Amino acid sequence: MCGIVGYIGENQAAPILLDGLSKLEYRGYDSAGIAVSSGEEIRMVKATGRLKVLDDLTHGGSTLPGTIGIGHTRWATHGEPSDTNAHPHLNKDGSIVVVHNGIIENYLKLKKKLENKGYKFLSETDTEVIAHMLDYYYNGNPVDTITKIMHRMEGSYALGIMFQDHPDEIYAVRKDSPLIVGESNEGNFIASDAPAVLKYTRQVYFIQNEEIVKLTKDSLTFYNIDEEVLTKEATTIDWDINAAEKGGYEHFMLKEMYEQSKAVSDTLNPRLKDGDIVIQELGMSEDEIRKIRKIYIVACGSAYHTGVTAKYVFEGLARIPVEVDLASEFRYRHPIFEPDTFVIIVSQSGETADSLAALREAKSHGVKTLGIVNVVGSSIAREADNVMYTWAGPEIAVATTKAYSTQLIAEYLLALKFAKVRGTIDNDVFASMLEELKQLPEQISLLLSHKENVQKFANRYLATEHVFFIGRGIDYAISLEGSLKLKEISYIHSEAYAAGELKHGTISLIEDGRLVVAVLTQPDLYKKTISNIQEVKTRGAFVMAVTTVENTEVEKVADYCVYIPKTNPYFTNSLAVIPLQLFGYYVSIGKGLDVDKPRNLAKSVTVE
Ligand code: GLU
Repeated sequence: MCGIVGYIGENQAAPILLDGLSKLEYRGYDSAGIAVSSGEEIRMVKATGRLKVLDDLTHGGSTLPGTIGIGHTRWATHGEPSDTNAHPHLNKDGSIVVVHNGIIENYLKLKKKLENKGYKFLSETDTEVIAHMLDYYYNGNPVDTITKIMHRMEGSYALGIMFQDHPDEIYAVRKDSPLIVGESNEGNFIASDAPAVLKYTRQVYFIQNEEIVKLTKDSLTFYNIDEEVLTKEATTIDWDINAAEKGGYEHFMLKEMYEQSKAVSDTLNPRLKDGDIVIQELGMSEDEIRKIRKIYIVACGSAYHTGVTAKYVFEGLARIPVEVDLASEFRYRHPIFEPDTFVIIVSQSGETADSLAALREAKSHGVKTLGIVNVVGSSIAREADNVMYTWAGPEIAVATTKAYSTQLIAEYLLALKFAKVRGTIDNDVFASMLEELKQLPEQISLLLSHKENVQKFANRYLATEHVFFIGRGIDYAISLEGSLKLKEISYIHSEAYAAGELKHGTISLIEDGRLVVAVLTQPDLYKKTISNIQEVKTRGAFVMAVTTVENTEVEKVADYCVYIPKTNPYFTNSLAVIPLQLFGYYVSIGKGLDVDKPRNLAKSVTVE
């Protein structure tokens, strides 16, 4: 999910590619590679690790002479980070070279077809099917061949392609992954994002979905999927490099909040097939799923909060008892592992030290383990019996948003799958819940489009010192995350309380003007939480309620309401968390804090 660059022009390509890739480093990556054509031959170098390794291997690019080339920084999604899996990828005789950013969802099917036709795969990537498909359909006309494969690929892609028999051309195409083209007097460029080209030009073309571009050193031709030539206007970029890195957003956290809709569909869609949920990587037979007697979900921080939600979902739908544990506690508390216990470890980085130790503890007792992890090839991904990846892409902001949202999706999918296999959910309910899942990405976008309302509200609370979040059931789990989001980036003390627990102590802290955020998304608990709102109102609290569209009754007791669209009560966390993330974000920037890098916190906690 990372970066592609390409250059064709008067100058040596390799140093320009390396420089362009370095400007895309902020997007995160695990390996990198470049391919350069000298006219007679295409040479390629790729390496795991930082760009510095590639730079050293090619002596700053000087060992790859030529004025045409493509490059890539990879964030592995299919196949662990390795030299072989790094891009570019080649067809069988090395005459077609491709770099890819995105995920080909139907790659297994395509791979099987190609293998039947005699194609041999060298890597574990989804990308390699593109190289072989281009080879299979190649008819001497690059644009025509590219449109043929576009009709066959499902998923997201931005591609840079070179054909040996068209030595003075680069081709690029995109669908649901970013791609821009830069134009200058000294040559033309492709890139995932503008910072890669800003040093050379500010004239860029934004490529739209399913558009193809042919670059020569002094011309650009744009095509649609019907191979018709398009006229496109260049845009002059006036952002500075810093703003450009964030895609025009002020901060990575805001950018990543906006990426949630795509991250959720990337994690969801490849696992929905013909009205069913297919989790190939689960590595469990239906019989094994039926036998599970207990689930432990073990994680830290926000990942732990997704586990608290998942407990309600697993228990409610699949009727399997679930214990959710903080990894730092689990590893030392001598948990009881009975046969048919299933342990799920949730971690964005896959390197969280406590979670890794918890995984090892579980494995030493011989129980089956599954990692829900974002970083391919990370320690937890390697050591768990099986791994289910969340395809959130790299997350840069320390406070998680999109990784959290995709972890929820992975857990919903597992719970629904288990429920179906164990026969605890009927087929109609299952089918309608899948439909509700599919609507989440659009609903998330809708909530984000109302961000100004939350911003206005947040601006009134910049000077507040304590905030309470309350809710029951899944709403309590949402409150935990809302509270953490606020305190970690705004440094305001906040606490999440199960709403019914308030009067057993904390209510004494409620005083005039104290902000209480009440979450009410569970219809069978509305009335109970409304009573708790009344209790805090009587003591002077100012109440912000986050509730569902049909629950307007809450306006009678709350001072300010945020509504989320209608979804299944099991899935409301995915929506209710959005205004809470926005609230934390706007309080933090309103206070002038460094929202992407809050003090004392690290993105990946690799110490105990
Ligand atoms: N899915 C591809 C891979 O795993 C591309 C990943 C990327 O966008 O960097 O190789």
